[in-house]
Amino acid sequence: MRVNLLGADIDALTMEETVERVAGLIRNYRPFRVMTLNPEYIYQAQFDRELLDLARRADIVTADGEGIVWACRVAGYPVPERVTGIDLMLRLVEKAALCGWSVYLLGAAPGVAAEAADRLCRDYPGLKVAGSYHGFFQEDEEGRVAQEIKKTKPDLLFVALGAPKQEIWIDRHLGKTGASAAIGVGGSFDVLAGRVQRAPHWVRRLRLEWLARLVRQPSRWRRQLVLPLFAWTVIKRYKLKRIAQD
Ligand code: UDP
Repeated sequence: MRVNLLGADIDALTMEETVERVAGLIRNYRPFRVMTLNPEYIYQAQFDRELLDLARRADIVTADGEGIVWACRVAGYPVPERVTGIDLMLRLVEKAALCGWSVYLLGAAPGVAAEAADRLCRDYPGLKVAGSYHGFFQEDEEGRVAQEIKKTKPDLLFVALGAPKQEIWIDRHLGKTGASAAIGVGGSFDVLAGRVQRAPHWVRRLRLEWLARLVRQPSRWRRQLVLPLFAWTVIKRYKLKRIAQD
């Protein structure tokens, strides 16, 4: 089932259901896109129609973080749990190692994707890494990067260019890469390569990972100023409207 939040459709799936959905589509379907939708993206999309269209064209859209899970609840269309980029990537890599799917890592600073790939190979023996490439190429090199990926014929292409750059790149180039599926995973390679620390489990269980990220990476505060605006938009659209109608 898909639920609509501020104009974007989100799949009401658990992590395991999302992984099974990907497994069901892989190799026997046209190339498909998985989007991990976060509050910053959906807020920006309220003012940028193209971003909303990109979200609508994605084959699977997950609730990336507690902000989206909360907003879906307020809207009256709850989703079962958050399915973040990094958690989904790890579950898919685990499945890839079991099923023999190959993976390609595109994005992050030079060297980071390769380090992340090494870490994944250590953690998931048998994993086939088709290749990796950094994410700081010029716009006129985009086509060449897609061609390089095509030579390696990956099943899963993880794209870590940050949102919405990764969604735009996937939309333009997935068809040229020969990959079965592309998934935007934001800053996941930095975490896998050990460049950025993820919040400890207990903080994640308390649903405060966003706060820990803000404390550890103060440079994000400007971006996270969007969060109260997102919350207010949700309350206005769903709660206040309902009160006014009652
Ligand atoms: N990045 C990139 N190319 C760019 C801009 C960013 O590869 O032109 C990478 C950056 O190095 C980082 C990731 O994209 O690894 C974005 O991480 P961030 O935590 O900002 O993404 P989010 O998860 O919040 O979308």
